[in-house]
Amino acid sequence: MFHRPLIQHCKSCGSTVTYRIPDDGDTRERAVCNKCHTIHYENPLNVVGTIPIWGDKVLLCKRNIEPRLGKWTLPAGFMELNETVAQGAARETIEEAGAQFEMQDLFTLMNVTRAGQVHFFYRAQLTSDHFNPGHETLEAKLFTEHEIPWDEIAFRTVKETLLHYFSDAKQGKFQLHHVDII
Ligand SMILES: [Zn+2]
Repeated sequence: MFHRPLIQHCKSCGSTVTYRIPDDGDTRERAVCNKCHTIHYENPLNVVGTIPIWGDKVLLCKRNIEPRLGKWTLPAGFMELNETVAQGAARETIEEAGAQFEMQDLFTLMNVTRAGQVHFFYRAQLTSDHFNPGHETLEAKLFTEHEIPWDEIAFRTVKETLLHYFSDAKQGKFQLHHVDII
């Protein structure tokens, strides 16, 4: 999605940091505090979401927030502490679309290495076609494959997930897809 933001200031004392390999046997560059020498370890974040399905249509949300304001996305967001991947995906779907649904299987697992993120999308069977989008969404709308605004999709992982979904739907068989976004 995005390049990983670099750490500017120490989280312990607020001093400036320098990216360097710590002299404790580590092999990777870390943000090391110039004053108190705290080493900041950074790890990938999980982005979790769903493909909400209604017959031959999928639900997309028009973004009311940056980045990619006004572009279309599947409901998804950053996983929170104290929830499972599936719980996070369901929570985002409720928050962004106000949808009613039953969670199904994991469908895509995508490494977005450059952004330091891993994206997970589950299939979700909608049980109603009435939506109540939250403040992050301008509009929640159902699209067939041919109606999808392919040039207006907010994120590469969403586009990849939609392409795999419609391809599998044609074959009537859904499987888990692993994708590396380079
Ligand atoms: Zn410090």
